[in-house]
Amino acid sequence: MSDRSFHDAAILAEGGDWRSRDLAVLWHPCTQMREHPDTLPLLTVSHGEGAWLVGHDGRRTLDAVSSWWTNIHGHAEPRIAEAIARQARRLEHVILAGATHEGAVELAERLLRIAPRQPGRAPLAKVFYADNGSAGVEVALKMAFHWYRNRGDEPRRTKFVALANGYHGETIGALSVGDIPLYRRIYAPLLMEAMFAPSPDAWNARPGQSAEDCAEEAADALARLLDEHPGEVCALILEPRLQCAGGMRMHHPVYLRRARELCDVHGVFLIADEIATGFGRTGTMFAFEQAGVMPDLMCMSKGLTGGFLPLAAVLATQSIYDGFLDDSRERAFLHSHSYTGNPLACAAALASLDIFESDDVLARNRVTASRMAEAATPLASLPHVAEVRQAGMVVAFELTRDGDRASPFDPAERVGLRAYRAALDHGVMLRPLGDILYWMPPYCIDDAQLALLAEATEAAIVAATGAV
Ligand SMILES: *Cc1c(COP(=O)(O)O)cnc(C)c1O
Repeated sequence: MSDRSFHDAAILAEGGDWRSRDLAVLWHPCTQMREHPDTLPLLTVSHGEGAWLVGHDGRRTLDAVSSWWTNIHGHAEPRIAEAIARQARRLEHVILAGATHEGAVELAERLLRIAPRQPGRAPLAKVFYADNGSAGVEVALKMAFHWYRNRGDEPRRTKFVALANGYHGETIGALSVGDIPLYRRIYAPLLMEAMFAPSPDAWNARPGQSAEDCAEEAADALARLLDEHPGEVCALILEPRLQCAGGMRMHHPVYLRRARELCDVHGVFLIADEIATGFGRTGTMFAFEQAGVMPDLMCMSKGLTGGFLPLAAVLATQSIYDGFLDDSRERAFLHSHSYTGNPLACAAALASLDIFESDDVLARNRVTASRMAEAATPLASLPHVAEVRQAGMVVAFELTRDGDRASPFDPAERVGLRAYRAALDHGVMLRPLGDILYWMPPYCIDDAQLALLAEATEAAIVAATGAV
């Protein structure tokens, strides 16, 4: 055995070793553990490099889903890594009740500066930190509810409206306003009651109906729902432009304008969940900008730290903040997570915002997004591809039996899972949502990686749909 092949065999064994040690002790998220390792391969990752995940065996796998939509500038981005290291030597964490630190202040200032604005409306003015997306959603829901409690004149405003097919996280409160049966159904008895308005999802358009008309129709239904429950609703929560976990479903921005108007008419707070759409994912810094209106509360997480560390920020208007100022402690917003505003996470977020500026990321993404569109076009003519749709740095492929909207695959055929395995064989980690394949890569993806992505996706679609 040559030195080289001896070395390769050693790292291969190391990868295998990590796999068996993992399965001996770890319980993975969102996974039927029985499927490991035979049905579902377990990728052991030694390190990351831009859009690549590098295994212990040296094999490179393209991270086409940005590690659950968190990574935006690439793995192990040296500028963010350096910022975290610098911060760690200075201050790793400090309680954010009764104390503050530079990173938390500067990040809040910068987030407020880039937040969506609306002419004639007071801008978002205050930042509340939490430490993950679901916690951020809980914060926004509790704030909306508590604001009305503090006012005292409308005690019936206790309900939330959310959208069909929406997703806002998996803690009990966030799950209550989510509508993905796979995550929700089993826990239904534990959840608080929420009302669901029809989704503006353009996939649901009737034949001949435009995405815009479909969104208008959904807004009309929202209007009726709010009319039927006067004085009962404290907030509407939605994912602007793109329902991600719901299958990368997209809607026309007119819906957001209508929702804004309806919320104003009915005295309902509008909560934007930009946890997945924020930080350039749909083409603009925040998806809400595409509608020219702004929310009252806005949740950010995932890409906030460039994908390095968990952190969430909830932005609120001055008038929401003012509703908590009082001599009574009970009227204060007494919500706390131990790691609120963690300095390392704030340092990562600031470094990520610096990269947006120094690399002109949004402009570069416009070029990359048009390359993604070109790369995706040939796949649209595959027989089982019913639709290819795109919003900025997200492209989704909807697979159906006959390549039309009316013939979904039987879930038992596990088309998505087969596509996942086939793509892995081609060096790409796709993680389909049911039978919907999508590209949501780190923004640093280059042309060669994009070509690999398109080739692997085509191979995955053919492999997964060929036999059914
Ligand atoms: C991922 C996600 C969440 C939850 O964030 P976590 O950090 O996973 O708890 C909430 N809303 C949306 C839209 C998301 O995509």
